Amino acid sequence: MGRKHFSGVCGNGLGPRPNWHRRRNPLTGRRTLKDLHAAVTPLHPGASRFEGGLSEVAAGVHAWLQPNGLLGESNAGLVVGDGASLLVDTLWDPQLTRRMLAAMAPLTTEAPVETLVNTHSDGDHWWGNQELDGIQIVATEAAAAVMATQSPGEMKRFGALTRALRLAGSLPLPYPRRGDVATIAAYAGEALEPFAFDGVRLVPPTRTFAGELELEVGGRHVRLIEVGPAHTPGDLVVWVPDAKVAIAADILFIGVTPIMWAGPVERWIAALELLLGLGAERFVPGHGPVCGAEDVNRLINYWRWLDSAARRHLDAGRSVAQTARELVLGDEIAERGFADWLGPERALISVRTMHAHQHGAAELPGPREVIDAFFRMALVARDLQTRQGRGPAT
Ligand SMILES: [Zn+2]
Repeated sequence: MGRKHFSGVCGNGLGPRPNWHRRRNPLTGRRTLKDLHAAVTPLHPGASRFEGGLSEVAAGVHAWLQPNGLLGESNAGLVVGDGASLLVDTLWDPQLTRRMLAAMAPLTTEAPVETLVNTHSDGDHWWGNQELDGIQIVATEAAAAVMATQSPGEMKRFGALTRALRLAGSLPLPYPRRGDVATIAAYAGEALEPFAFDGVRLVPPTRTFAGELELEVGGRHVRLIEVGPAHTPGDLVVWVPDAKVAIAADILFIGVTPIMWAGPVERWIAALELLLGLGAERFVPGHGPVCGAEDVNRLINYWRWLDSAARRHLDAGRSVAQTARELVLGDEIAERGFADWLGPERALISVRTMHAHQHGAAELPGPREVIDAFFRMALVARDLQTRQGRGPAT
């Protein structure tokens, strides 16, 4: 089967890509204004699994949802008060962020965004901050410390490496593992293709805190609760008590496999239990559709399962990569009810983090480790597709 059957990160083979980002001005390579107002469809291959765009979750609390919640398909939240609003997160690049702000304009014209909260340090939640430069930007001290180490140049270098691999994978020469190289190039290239990092100018938080912080926005009270380290070192969740909505950011991935960069897993489970204890009726995840308590419990079950299953394999002497491969390609993941989540191969990063904690060296993976993990995930995703009968990738 041809390479076109390999759908990279998504790996769901759900059909043609209706991606607005593909339509660009041929001279500048930039998305056109028309695209900014197009329907919010997935950035990666596959049909929408839930409706994208702006929706009101409860009175004056809105979610910006980006199907299907895979890499960089991140959500944001808007709390609208009397004459002022609070925005929770920007997106991975300025253009995606401008599209979101344009959709929010009917709400923010009367109630301008006065405060921006960045829930954590992953670029898909703050690299669009420049579109709101000059306003108060709040994050935890721990998140701000990680943000200060980042540079869009890293992503551009990853893009250049991917192009080189793509070239190597397409050379008409037989060489060892050529198929693997082509698979990795397709996977990594597809992952970053939708994003325009060239225009990114990083604008860091202007106010940091540890623990909890209460903010007032146009007469409404909003509580920021630090729950990291969990997904990343400095995660926070946003609780809007008068609307009974928790904007949980990347403490919640719904319908898509979570990635644990920081851990430990016990902290993530504690964060989920804290969310359940708030009395929220609805939760806005960082990736995936708005959900209720049932989905929060399901994620707790996933972490408990992955933790114990990974421990079993690692204790038996298997490597992180072998462990992740066994778990993603094995039967247990379906038996436990997690096989319908997109991107199951992402468990590899979480297993790596669990392994690091077990050995007392739980540092965030550096760029080389992330690239290595991507390469391994590409091969696991390919083998999963082969097993599911969609044919080999290359
Ligand atoms: Zn995210």
